[in-house]
Amino acid sequence: MPGESRFAALEPLLERIQKPIQYVGGELNSQVKDWNCGGHGPDGAERTVRWALMYPDAYEVGLPNQGVMILYEVLNERPDALAERTYAVWPDLEALLREHGVPQVTVDGHRAVRDFDLFGISFSTELGYTNFLTALDLAGIPLHSRDRTDADPIVVTGGHASFNPEPIADYTDVVVVGDGEQAVLELTDLVAAWKAEGRPGGRDELLLRIARSGVAYVPACYEVDYFPDGRIRRVAPRTGLTGIPWRVAKHTVTDLEAWPYPKAPLVPLAETVHERMSVEIFRGCTRGCRFCQAGMITRPVRERSITGIGEMVERGLAATGFEEVGLLSLSSADHSEIAAVTKGLADRYEGSQTGLSLPSTRVDAFNIDLANELSRGGRRSGLTFAPEGGSERLRKVINKQVSEQDLVDTVAAAFAAGWRQVKLYFMCGLPTETDEDVLQIATLATRVIETGRQVSGRRDIRCTVSIGGFVPKPHTPFQWAGQLSAEATDARLRLLRDTIRADRRYAASIGFRYHDGQPGIVEGLLSRGDRRVGAVIEAVWREGGRFDGWSEHFSFERWMRAAESVFEGTALSVDWFTTRERDRIEILPWDHIDSGLDRDWLWDDWQDALAEHEVADCRWSGCFDCGVCPEMGTQIEMGPTGRSLLPLSVVSPDRQRLLEAAP
Ligand code: SF4
Repeated sequence: MPGESRFAALEPLLERIQKPIQYVGGELNSQVKDWNCGGHGPDGAERTVRWALMYPDAYEVGLPNQGVMILYEVLNERPDALAERTYAVWPDLEALLREHGVPQVTVDGHRAVRDFDLFGISFSTELGYTNFLTALDLAGIPLHSRDRTDADPIVVTGGHASFNPEPIADYTDVVVVGDGEQAVLELTDLVAAWKAEGRPGGRDELLLRIARSGVAYVPACYEVDYFPDGRIRRVAPRTGLTGIPWRVAKHTVTDLEAWPYPKAPLVPLAETVHERMSVEIFRGCTRGCRFCQAGMITRPVRERSITGIGEMVERGLAATGFEEVGLLSLSSADHSEIAAVTKGLADRYEGSQTGLSLPSTRVDAFNIDLANELSRGGRRSGLTFAPEGGSERLRKVINKQVSEQDLVDTVAAAFAAGWRQVKLYFMCGLPTETDEDVLQIATLATRVIETGRQVSGRRDIRCTVSIGGFVPKPHTPFQWAGQLSAEATDARLRLLRDTIRADRRYAASIGFRYHDGQPGIVEGLLSRGDRRVGAVIEAVWREGGRFDGWSEHFSFERWMRAAESVFEGTALSVDWFTTRERDRIEILPWDHIDSGLDRDWLWDDWQDALAEHEVADCRWSGCFDCGVCPEMGTQIEMGPTGRSLLPLSVVSPDRQRLLEAAP
């Protein structure tokens, strides 16, 4: 029976694997709704729209994912919809599922993923693509969109990686671009209407309706032509199809206050990467760091109000029992009322078990005040900053707008306030970078240690330098840049490591963590690839590629072998997609995905980068015409509201009435 629990088949396998708890479900705030919660119409037509939602990584990474948690709640609030979750299964369970013919199931109702109407997968990173194919295969859903039948769910992909969905275009049916909350409800409406009409025209008609609505991108409705040298000649709606938009626009939630999700976050049963409740305090970032895809594709800034944040924290803590609250956004210290938010929350929860954290990366003294506030009465161990580029020159190229003096002043304030360690994040392989730029990271780290020793009068000051390879991303000014090869990245990182180690005065106080260049090249291939890269993903998966985001599972050789065989006899290669610089007129595989950013503005910003010109943040300097607001019909939404957060809990109107009615 569709929708029946498969737990009886799964259960005997769980005692033979590691961490069986992650497949059991039943977390606090999880839901299992009636399979027919939407009922039937007078004509007997089904009224329920069913979603299986997946984060394509292990439970410990996937469960805390805010995006999936929000969609899960938004969909389950709807009486005629239900949503259940599933995560990537580890290879031990995958082998047993195959051996015993048990399909990929959800963790909530242990229902087969194939029984649902829609299977939605959220990609934060392209390295989840092989896990996506595993899930399709285990679910019994044909890998290729063209092979699916009316008995298969509509496969919907989304998340930041979907701003270039082309590498998985043959494997997905529908791509949601941008904020998902409203989009999944609109898709649910389309599916509900089609089901209520008796499913006219089967899945082909449904996909056509979705494509025509502009709610999402349907890759099968578009065809791509290529020049003999490999470049794209044209991406256009398929001949014969009418009403298909040439470009598909991203979704933007304009009033974050109206979407206070998750209201009741999931509490994990097993260990996960974040054991805290997260509240998104604003969405978007206009600081304009040129390497940052997240900042570019989530414009403009939309803040949640101070009181909205306070209510979400209070309600979420009551619903979960978590003892830590993370105030999330791309650059949390930039909220227009962050000082009042942190002070208000610190006052409200002082003396309780509740801790607050602010993932803070901006380098300025104001951040230290915030960190001091958040650590009131607690231990002051380490602070993290992200200067990203080692030299002043390079920070101008990437528009980081942080000087060496800013960093030194900031760490001086931190060490004076009792902090003992700082962690600094950098990238290697940024456009125009030389060995000298990277070696200046060592100089910076020694200045940090010197400053710390001077200010604190102590010798136990530590600075950890953490550095990874830069990957140029779509919809950023660096989308045209050539990526540094893995060999050159590794050579530069070795040089930096040796330089740090050679200075005996500081070597013992500086930690050095780096990621080698190879995974970055695969990420680069998947980020800026086109439809022809899909065959490489499939070949890697067929050769056993799984969990590519995990270093112990990742195999660079497997990816290179697969690419070589797929691209043999063509103009294409891994270098062609990664280290090659593109020119202005080349059609990029994601040009028909509309992030709102004006292509000419992006190109001018790329030229500004090469000229080492910085561009200010439009929140404080006025609009500089990136194109997003007029294109998407949005505007910056920020405070200050002038309101304050009371140290005492606000009594709800219902409770107020009860109190007043009491004798
Ligand atoms: S259009 Fe102007 S105001 Fe809107 S995000 Fe771009 S630069 Fe900022």
